Amino acid sequence: MNSDETIVAVSSAVGSAARMIVRTSGPAALTLLADLVRDPVPADGGSAFPSHLAFSGVFCPAWVYVFRSPASYSGEDLVEYHLPGNPVLVEMFVSHLRGRHDLQIRAAEPGEFTARAYFNGRMDLTQAEGVAAVVAAQSEQQEQAGRRLMAGELARRIREPADLILATLALVEVGIDFSDEDVTFLPIDDLLSRIDQCRNMLSSLLSDSARFKPLGYEPTLILVGRPNAGKSTLLNALAGYERAVASATAGTTRDALTARIALERGYVRVVDVAGLEEGLTVVGDDIKSQMTRRALDEIARADRVILVVPVDDAALPVDAGRVADLVVRTKCDTVPAVAADASQRLASPPGPIPTVAVSALTGQGMDALRRRLDEQAFGRDEAATLTLNARHEAAILAADQALVQVRDLVEAGGAVELVAAELWEVLAQTGRVLGQVTPDEILDEVFSRFCIGK
Ligand code: GDP
Repeated sequence: MNSDETIVAVSSAVGSAARMIVRTSGPAALTLLADLVRDPVPADGGSAFPSHLAFSGVFCPAWVYVFRSPASYSGEDLVEYHLPGNPVLVEMFVSHLRGRHDLQIRAAEPGEFTARAYFNGRMDLTQAEGVAAVVAAQSEQQEQAGRRLMAGELARRIREPADLILATLALVEVGIDFSDEDVTFLPIDDLLSRIDQCRNMLSSLLSDSARFKPLGYEPTLILVGRPNAGKSTLLNALAGYERAVASATAGTTRDALTARIALERGYVRVVDVAGLEEGLTVVGDDIKSQMTRRALDEIARADRVILVVPVDDAALPVDAGRVADLVVRTKCDTVPAVAADASQRLASPPGPIPTVAVSALTGQGMDALRRRLDEQAFGRDEAATLTLNARHEAAILAADQALVQVRDLVEAGGAVELVAAELWEVLAQTGRVLGQVTPDEILDEVFSRFCIGK
């Protein structure tokens, strides 16, 4: 990153909008603005503009927002132009700005405003990732998780163990300095308990976030049921188009079919597997056994299992090797409403598995089913929690691994210098979560996932 250059980008979404935003950031941002303000022309190249100034006029009916370094998003001088939402006009405006080659103006790369904010210490790496997560969010939940990252929640929580390690390290190092004297600054038991405390903090960080899948992850719901239960028809009804081939001949669904379905809080993958016949015994290598094997494999990997049973079917459903999370009684148009209701209670699977009665034909119960699926996929628990990405998880696990080594070392009566070295490693790993000691390749990888203008 060359911070001598001033970057410019359209920061609003692509497509028509009432207003479009052009952002400039860098040493020449105020000079560019001064250039545009004709009346009066500031003699000082823009340094007279106070921070957090908003005014209208300039170039066309635009609102201009001035944020001076360091109190801006990027930490640099930053000027935002809120223009009428006309792409042609905005394009002209951007080329006009970029025309000042003498000022080293260039188009911003994806995520560059945020990258500058990170390098200028305006936010740590987890917060920068939060910005990307909010922009990329496809569900309310993902958006909230991104916001929590952005607000620095992960940073706060990783600092707890990091501070404890730092304090411990200080005591251990004092011990090294005074090793000739007969004083103990940190008894072994105390040291071990601090290590365990730290490990507990890290593991609760991991388990709190485990309830949520990584951003961009689409939960898989699998439809299980005997042939002719109405699975394909249900998939089609959910998808709103003919995704699966439904037919009256049992066993028509010959392979796993998947549809990406939008529910209230996000997208899910609904899979309709083939091959689940009565016995479900996997014998030999014939096509049928292979299909059963594949089906069982799919079921084992799915996030939720949806058992599909016709409303008039009192028989026990297929054994999918996994307890169903939701039962859908299909074809409820084929029995009178009251009976359909009663047969819900007669639902064959044991235990309190939530059940919905639907008719893919009439649409009855389909809204309720969608709500249930949403609940299954995204959970009922709205409680705020964290979303860790693979990078965070790897660093947290590495920190924990280093803690395990410190523990082993301490228990084996290892030299105090080695203990200190291992504690430094723990600190380095926790620092990595925040991007304090992050190699350039990882930073590039983080920021390249952004869109332009952020
Ligand atoms: P699959 O083998 O589980 O995928 O079952 P299909 O979706 O192919 O459906 C089997 C048969 O049941 C077909 O003849 C469908 O038209 C019929 N069917 C499916 N859903 C309904 C429904 O809601 N109402 C009625 N009346 N028939 C249905």
